[in-house]
Amino acid sequence: MPFVVMITGIPGVGKSTITRLALQKVNIKFRLVNFGDLMFEEAVESGLVHHRDEMRKLDPMIQKELQLKAARKIVGIARKEPVLLDTHATIRTPMGYLLGFPREVIETIRPNFVVIIEATPSEILGRRLRDLKRDRDVETEEQIERHQDLNRAAAISYAMHSDALIKVIENHEDKGLEEAVNELVGVLNLAVREYD
Ligand code: AMP
Ligand code: MG
Repeated sequence: MPFVVMITGIPGVGKSTITRLALQKVNIKFRLVNFGDLMFEEAVESGLVHHRDEMRKLDPMIQKELQLKAARKIVGIARKEPVLLDTHATIRTPMGYLLGFPREVIETIRPNFVVIIEATPSEILGRRLRDLKRDRDVETEEQIERHQDLNRAAAISYAMHSDALIKVIENHEDKGLEEAVNELVGVLNLAVREYD
């Protein structure tokens, strides 16, 4: 049986750091797949964008086509090895929040777990200010809070369409990182039962 863990969290929450550290400690080899990378490959091939931060500004129906193509690739990979899918539960676009996994897309991937990494809005703002690599939108603490609320709501709908379990992992400044990593390792180690 394929084993897919979706890892979500708003930009600046520490998702990439936790993921990298967890993969060094897990008992089974996971394939780390970035959903945005797969969508971006498709988008560039179709001549739609030049930079990944342009994707969220595309017409929502076009973004959905890209999501579906990326989802089909993931199904192919997950037949052979467990997949850790780095992605977003919702995407803040200029038109409004876009679901990261509309029904057809979540029904294609059928993840085993939806992990949400969370931190407080002020922790997230601080981390964003220290990472200037990305073309990130400037948000207030209230907007960050609303985005995290919507991501929890979105996770419910993903569980509804896939039987996934939801795991909320907090990543706080004071010694939160190690605990967060260990929680994720615990989820990933469940894959051992599926591939042997
Ligand atoms: P990231 O590098 O993970 O921040 O993702 C880069 C971009 O990929 C995001 O800004 C979105 O445009 C796109 N992306 C990633 N995951 C999804 C998703 N599930 N649905 C739609 N777009 C996504
Ligand atoms: Mg990232």
